[in-house]
Amino acid sequence: MQLELSEEDQAFRQEMRDFFTTQVSEEIRTAVTEGRELTKDQLVESMRTLNEAGLAVPHWPEEYGGRGWSDLKRHLWFEEMQRAGVPTPLAFNASMIGPVLAQFGSEEQKLEFLPKTANLDIWWAQGFSEPDAGSDLASVRTTAVLDGDDWVVNGQKTWTTLGQHADWIFTLVRTDPEVKKQAGISLLLIDMATPGVEVRPIELIDGGHEVNEVWFEDVRVPGDHLVGELNSGWTIAKFLLGNERVGVAPVGATKRSLAYAKELAADLIADDPLLRARVAELENELLALELTALRVAAHSAGGEPHPASSVLKLKGSVLQQAVSELVVDLAGPGSLASGAGDDSDLDGWARRATPTYLNLRKASIYGGSNEVQRQIISRTILGL
Ligand SMILES: Cc1cc2nc3c(=O)[nH]c(=O)nc-3n(C[C@H](O)[C@H](O)[C@H](O)COP(=O)(O)OP(=O)(O)OC[C@H]3O[C@@H](n4cnc5c(N)ncnc54)[C@H](O)[C@@H]3O)c2cc1C
Repeated sequence: MQLELSEEDQAFRQEMRDFFTTQVSEEIRTAVTEGRELTKDQLVESMRTLNEAGLAVPHWPEEYGGRGWSDLKRHLWFEEMQRAGVPTPLAFNASMIGPVLAQFGSEEQKLEFLPKTANLDIWWAQGFSEPDAGSDLASVRTTAVLDGDDWVVNGQKTWTTLGQHADWIFTLVRTDPEVKKQAGISLLLIDMATPGVEVRPIELIDGGHEVNEVWFEDVRVPGDHLVGELNSGWTIAKFLLGNERVGVAPVGATKRSLAYAKELAADLIADDPLLRARVAELENELLALELTALRVAAHSAGGEPHPASSVLKLKGSVLQQAVSELVVDLAGPGSLASGAGDDSDLDGWARRATPTYLNLRKASIYGGSNEVQRQIISRTILGL
C-alpha cells in the first residue's frame, strides 16, 4: 500500500493548511481547540468564509458548488480543517440535506435551497427521531395529510440538535399509514417560522442546551416542499444516514484533542510509562481509523455510501470518547471543578474536561446507536 502523498497532494495539503490557519478567525479556531462552545454567529461566519473560497461543500456535485476533487483530496481538506481548529461545515447542511437535494430534489428545490444551504443562509435541522422512532426510524408517527395543495403536519420530533438556531427542518413524515411501515414515509422541508411549529429545549447532562423537542400542530406546508417521490422517504433517509455516518468519524478533531492533551500534560505523560502506552495506543488506533476512512471514501460508488461507514461511526465515536476520558484522567481531581469560573486557579482545559467527557457520551448514540451499527456491520459486512 502506498502511504506517501504525491507531490501534488502534498502541495494541496499545504494550500489547505495555509488557508485554514490564516483565513478563518483565530478567535474561532482557539475556541474550538480549547473546547469552548461557539456562538451561532461564529459558526455562520466560519462556514461563509469557507464557502466564499469554495471550501464549504467540495463534495457536492460540481454544478452546485462541488469541486470534483479526488477522495484523497477531500480527506485532506477535512483533516486539515479539523487540525486547524476550523469548525467543520454544519453537517445538517453540508453532509445531510445538501447532498439529498442535489440527488433527489426538484430543479426548483435545488435552485431555491442549495446556494443558501452552502452559505448557511439557511440553518437546517434534522427532524428524523421521535420518542418511539430512533433506532427503529421506520416507526415515525408524525403525519402529513394532503389538504388542497398543502400538507398538514402533526406530531413530535425529539433530539433535534441546535433546533433553536434552525430556519428550516427536513422532516420524515408518515404519508401513508396503510402500507408496510417503510413504504409510507416521505421527506418534507418545513420552514420553522410556520405557525404551529414549537421548539422546546432539552437540558443535557453537561448543563448545555444542544438538543430540543420540535412539535408540529396543524402545520401547513406547501405541497412542493416534498422531496423526491411521494412515499420514497425511506430510500432518501438511508442515503442521508450513510452520509451522516461517514461525517461522524471525527478523526482530525480527535487527533487534535489528543495532541493538545499531550502538549498540556507533557510532564505527566513523560513520567508515567502507562500513560505513554495509553497515548501511543490511541494514536495507533486513530491512524488505523484514518486509513479505514480513506478506504471507505475510495469505495463509495454512485452516491451510495459504503456499508463500512458504520465502522467509521462506531470506531470514531469510541476513540473520541476514549480521548475525552484520557483528558479527564490527565486533569485529575481538578476536572471535577467544572462549575468554577474563569477567575479560578485551575486551567480552563481541566475545568472543561468533565463536561466534555459527559457531553461526548452522546457520540455513541446519535447518528444511529453503536449497538445498531454493530448489527449493520455483522449483517452487511460480515454476513453473519
Ligand atoms: C445528542 C443527540 C443528538 C441527536 N440529534 C438528532 C437530530 O438532530 N435529529 C434527529 O433526528 N435525531 C437526533 N438524535 C437521535 C438519535 O439519532 C437517536 O437517539 C438514536 O438513533 C437512537 O435512538 P433512540 O434514542 O430512540 O434509542 P432506542 O432506539 O430506543 O435505543 C435504546 C437502546 O436500545 C439499543 N437498541 C435499539 N435497537 C437495537 C437493536 N436492534 N439491536 C441492539 N440494540 C438496540 C440502542 O442501541 C440503545 O442502547 C440525537 C441523539 C442524541 C443523543
